[in-house]
Amino acid sequence: MRDPEEELRDLAAAGLRRTLRRLDSPQGPAIRLAEGGECLNFSSNDYLGLANDAALKSLYQHHIGESGAGSGASRLVCGTMAAHLELEDKLAALKRSEAALTFTSGFAAATGTIPALCGKDDIVILDKLCHASLIDGARLSGATMRVFPHNDLDRLADHLRWAAEKRGPNSRVLVVTESVFSMDGDLAPLAAICELKDAHDALLLLDEAHAFGVLGPQGRGLASALGLEGRVDLQMGTFSKAAGLSGGYVCASRATVDLLVNRARSFIYSTAPSPALAATIRDGLDLVCGPVGDRLRAALSRHRETFAPGTPSAIVPVILGENETALAASAALLERGFLVPAIRYPTVPRGSARLRVTLSAAHREEDVTALKKALAEVAPGR
Ligand SMILES: *Cc1c(COP(=O)(O)O)cnc(C)c1O
Repeated sequence: MRDPEEELRDLAAAGLRRTLRRLDSPQGPAIRLAEGGECLNFSSNDYLGLANDAALKSLYQHHIGESGAGSGASRLVCGTMAAHLELEDKLAALKRSEAALTFTSGFAAATGTIPALCGKDDIVILDKLCHASLIDGARLSGATMRVFPHNDLDRLADHLRWAAEKRGPNSRVLVVTESVFSMDGDLAPLAAICELKDAHDALLLLDEAHAFGVLGPQGRGLASALGLEGRVDLQMGTFSKAAGLSGGYVCASRATVDLLVNRARSFIYSTAPSPALAATIRDGLDLVCGPVGDRLRAALSRHRETFAPGTPSAIVPVILGENETALAASAALLERGFLVPAIRYPTVPRGSARLRVTLSAAHREEDVTALKKALAEVAPGR
């Protein structure tokens, strides 16, 4: 039998062993690491700085008192509380969709939704750089999978034509992509993808994980920024990034959402999110999508312009190539007081190990310029 220690040694030898890093402070733009001490944090997805926001925390405290800490059961048993339904109605209205369903995480939303809609007679077509949760959802579904090179519309069109020939009369064809790609920070060509999927009678699932709260009017996401909300069949996302909390969602037609309630195993067989959390997300949407959010998005935009002019999202990759190069650059930045993670295979393709810089509205302008300067020292010419 394989020895786990040996597997770990192999991972270490390839520069691929991962370990957990302990924080001794709340999440924020400046954190304290158990090893590494005080540093500026350029690694979280807390794009608006809400994870430790005073207003959001007091909402949470209030709702624990009002609605309780735990939900006690899955949604279909007796775990559906007023807060869950009110959150879903509010989110659906915000996303201009008929209905919405919330999950315990974005990962659960993806792995529940795709297999609920697709099975062995169906076809799922994914962008090569789709998040692990989307890939796992597609695999779990048992559908035939096709992958197109990142943002390659010609190859997507090829797959759609192939699917049109292969599909049966009742088959679903589902195209899956992200609005902001998590390790590259670039955007999907959404308008063209909508044209293609409509022309070939396919459905589109768009994962807005890194766009919700960041892009579009009120931070509603990329579909909204481009006026395409009505064309995207499933708008998926998470409350764990810009919204500062946790939990996943899918916005879709009423019938699709009702089908998910019946079929999505990660929804059916998992205890409902805490009612206090659901209520805090519900009320927190006023922060994320209201004037406070607008002010934070403006600060984030200023940081984006300072750090990497023209960057389309809050994620800026610095591609270095080899695992060891990326690890060394990350370590050198930490010595200078900046936490910027090295991202390696399998999270990104082999040979494209990188630093992944994420900006937050909560950073100070001088933090961003200091990082820029440090990066020029540790990775000159990048
Ligand atoms: C983070 C992420 C998820 C998972 O969301 P969680 O709420 O953290 O489970 C799904 N898709 C993408 C693109 C992500 O970046």
